[in-house]
Amino acid sequence: MARRKKLYEGKAKILYEGPEPGTLVQYFKDDATAFNSKKKGVVDGKGVLNNRLSEYFMSGLNTIGVPTHFIKRINMREQLIQQVEIIPLEVVVRNIAAGSICERFGIEEGAALPRPIVEFFLKNDELGDPLVSEEHAIAFGWAGQHDLDEMIALALRSNDFLSGVMLAVGIRLVDLKLEIGRVWDGDFQRLVVADEISPDSCRLWDIDSSRKLDKDVFRRDLGNLAEAYTEIARRLGVLPSNITHAVKPHVIN
Ligand code: UDP
Repeated sequence: MARRKKLYEGKAKILYEGPEPGTLVQYFKDDATAFNSKKKGVVDGKGVLNNRLSEYFMSGLNTIGVPTHFIKRINMREQLIQQVEIIPLEVVVRNIAAGSICERFGIEEGAALPRPIVEFFLKNDELGDPLVSEEHAIAFGWAGQHDLDEMIALALRSNDFLSGVMLAVGIRLVDLKLEIGRVWDGDFQRLVVADEISPDSCRLWDIDSSRKLDKDVFRRDLGNLAEAYTEIARRLGVLPSNITHAVKPHVIN
């Protein structure tokens, strides 16, 4: 296969130059990290599962009119995406309290929130991705008020859609993290959902048993991560044919 130009390598994915201008190839690795990369591991098959799951969620969003960067899946680990300028803010929507909101406000894990709560975090590993207000984002030029309004709208529509999709297979969408990108069309810009949507970036709990089926399995050593992701893919009917059993994660630490 011809060598391609690698443009960026992150913790879980690699971006290569795409076949057409304005496109990229997104490659899903098996690497898992948590706690700002203090914990590292390799989970065989995770990249293949996340490629399928992100394809499934992003194409669903495209179908209902929520724009995303996703164009098509190329193979087991790669997808063709639109090149975007990533806004340096992570957008989190929470339906149920878990993770950092519990520590921040002393809320019990599992408490239902009175309404979906949208939060922004600055994408900055050195600072540990701090929570930021809209005032910070505007004052420091990370996004404008129009961008923030549009980001909230995209995040809430995505949350509603994904909550419904997961509910249909007996899974609760506890929270999700989105990254949003700008696409330029001459002088005009559009915002689209970018990066990935997968159990690496959402919390997903089985409704009947409350079993965690997301990256908390890796973060908190709750069992076999690939098995949990395989269960989600199986319920959604997107299990790749060559993944028949999950493999134990190798935690490097
Ligand atoms: N999340 C993510 N990347 C990050 C931080 C959070 O994908 O760098 C996701 C996380 O998996 C969860 C949601 O965003 O689904 C909310 O995460 P939280 O703020 O609770 O942070 P945590 O304490 O879990 O890192």
